[in-house]
Amino acid sequence: MARRVRIGEADAIVIGAGLAGLVATAELAAKGKHVILLEQEPEQSLGGQAFWSLGGLFLVDSPEQRRMRIRDSVELAWQDWEGTAGFDREEDHWPRKWAEAYVNFAAGEKRSWLHEQGVRFFPVVGWAERGGYGATGPGNSVPRFHVTWGTGPGIIQPFVNLVRDAAARGLVALRFRHRVNELIVTNGAVTGARGDVLEPSDVDRGVKSTANIVGDFEVSADAVIVTSGGIGANHELVRKNWPARLGQPPRRMLSGVPDHVDGRMIGISESAGASVINRDRMWHYVEGITNWNSIWTNHGIRILPGPSSLWLDATGKRLPVPLYPGFDTLGTLAHIMKTGHEHTWFILTQKIIEKEFALSGSEQNPDLTGRSVRGVLGRAGGGAPAPVRAFMERGADFIVERELGNLVRRMKALTPDAPLDIAQVEREVTARDREMDNPFTKDLQIAALRGARSYLGDKLIRVAKPHKLLDPDAGPLIAVRLHVLTRKTLGGLETDLSSRVLRDDGEPFPGLYAAGEVAGFGGGGMHGYRALEGTFLGGCIFSGRAAGRAAAETI
Ligand SMILES: Cc1cc2nc3c(=O)[nH]c(=O)nc-3n(C[C@H](O)[C@H](O)[C@H](O)COP(=O)(O)OP(=O)(O)OC[C@H]3O[C@@H](n4cnc5c(N)ncnc54)[C@H](O)[C@@H]3O)c2cc1C
Repeated sequence: MARRVRIGEADAIVIGAGLAGLVATAELAAKGKHVILLEQEPEQSLGGQAFWSLGGLFLVDSPEQRRMRIRDSVELAWQDWEGTAGFDREEDHWPRKWAEAYVNFAAGEKRSWLHEQGVRFFPVVGWAERGGYGATGPGNSVPRFHVTWGTGPGIIQPFVNLVRDAAARGLVALRFRHRVNELIVTNGAVTGARGDVLEPSDVDRGVKSTANIVGDFEVSADAVIVTSGGIGANHELVRKNWPARLGQPPRRMLSGVPDHVDGRMIGISESAGASVINRDRMWHYVEGITNWNSIWTNHGIRILPGPSSLWLDATGKRLPVPLYPGFDTLGTLAHIMKTGHEHTWFILTQKIIEKEFALSGSEQNPDLTGRSVRGVLGRAGGGAPAPVRAFMERGADFIVERELGNLVRRMKALTPDAPLDIAQVEREVTARDREMDNPFTKDLQIAALRGARSYLGDKLIRVAKPHKLLDPDAGPLIAVRLHVLTRKTLGGLETDLSSRVLRDDGEPFPGLYAAGEVAGFGGGGMHGYRALEGTFLGGCIFSGRAAGRAAAETI
């Protein structure tokens, strides 16, 4: 096909139609600005990663928390954020300011603003990243993870509607299959973008699309907003940026994000003159399982674990205190990478899996995604949820056995290259079970389980009644092999509080803005070293809104 050059003009260009790009576009259109929204993927993937998300949002002192008798405050949330972020670099100036603004947003306008847009929440608040290091250490002191009713599709829908309405009114031009390769800089200011027009693609949402070029384009505008996401599907870049504090980069990782999360725009923006900071800060999970029903390349699913499973390394040794499921993601990752093996094991019972296993992702939670009250109530009724059952039956990483010896023999057979010590596993299981005989114990995981159940939400739907793993009434026994799974990029384009991208000299780069994951969710890394969870979607919304508003003011 002949190559064509298409030239367009608008008040603003937005690069990337994920959540951050949709929010920025909606804000610009609300101010009557003309926007060209450029997206490399086909139309059916509109919404980017957020569509696939669980829709978990970090809120502080919300009505949902109060109804669950959780006492939260902006001071407590900031204490947790600071302890988790561990800001310690000169370049943390803007990230820290973004963090403060974001915690105030989460304790203030966030819920009511989203509510106005039609977003609603599941009433039981989840407790992610529980920490375990004391009051000033990392982790959430209280539950703050609010799942959107309708999960990922529910969080993007209001913004998709606003952008589509604006498109119908002629304010927004949606340009799918337009892949940006270059930012145009004129007299020191960003004035447009160039790239390839890719061939049409009818692959299903999230499936890797082809990259055959059928033309090229050039567009110009007074403002360019980059909202192109992180680097999680680009394992080469993940390994290159991997920090020494997390040990050696894993040789094998699952992808927790679709192929389009390729990180290209970070390098493209940097070449144009943008400052990139905190590249070595990332948020990957340690409870990844191989998807038996993959959508994107190397697709892994993250287990959102309740705290009861016994967590063993590849040799059969229990992970150290407080590396329990759902306590300290990156602390666990750092520990695993020091063991010399990349996988770990959960050992649990049928009773635990029924109450404690949730899988992250909209497609893994059809009841919440489909807003089915009946389906959700069914979760409390016993039996593992259908998507979890499907993994138990078909997942490559699951072993189900009635008897411990058989379970451990099959674990060993599944990992012939790892020196799994059968006797060690049996010792860990029986020793842990002996600690259950009294209502008090020296085993801090068991103490944590008992403590957690004094939170109503955990008792209702998240933490199984403590029991012995070898109790036959709780069985069968289940072993799950866990892999490292890539997900979020915590560093990125350095921005000020108006989402203006800075140059290396610290001055704003005229005409250039960035929001969402490509901007480290604001500032170039508002999470610091670690995250409190549920902070990413909200970070896209907060920084996308700021970018749209600030750009609209200057046009
Ligand atoms: C399975 C899953 C579960 C999650 N669960 C949660 C959760 O519960 N809570 C939470 O807070 N977060 C969650 N997240 C994280 C969150 O969804 C993402 O961090 C967020 O949606 C990123 O949005 P974004 O707009 O910054 O980027 P993206 O969604 O990645 O969108 C960027 C868009 O830019 C396009 N693009 C990139 N480069 C170019 C280019 N050169 N030219 C044109 N277009 C380009 C891409 O194709 C893409 O469509 C989850 C993520 C996943 C995958």
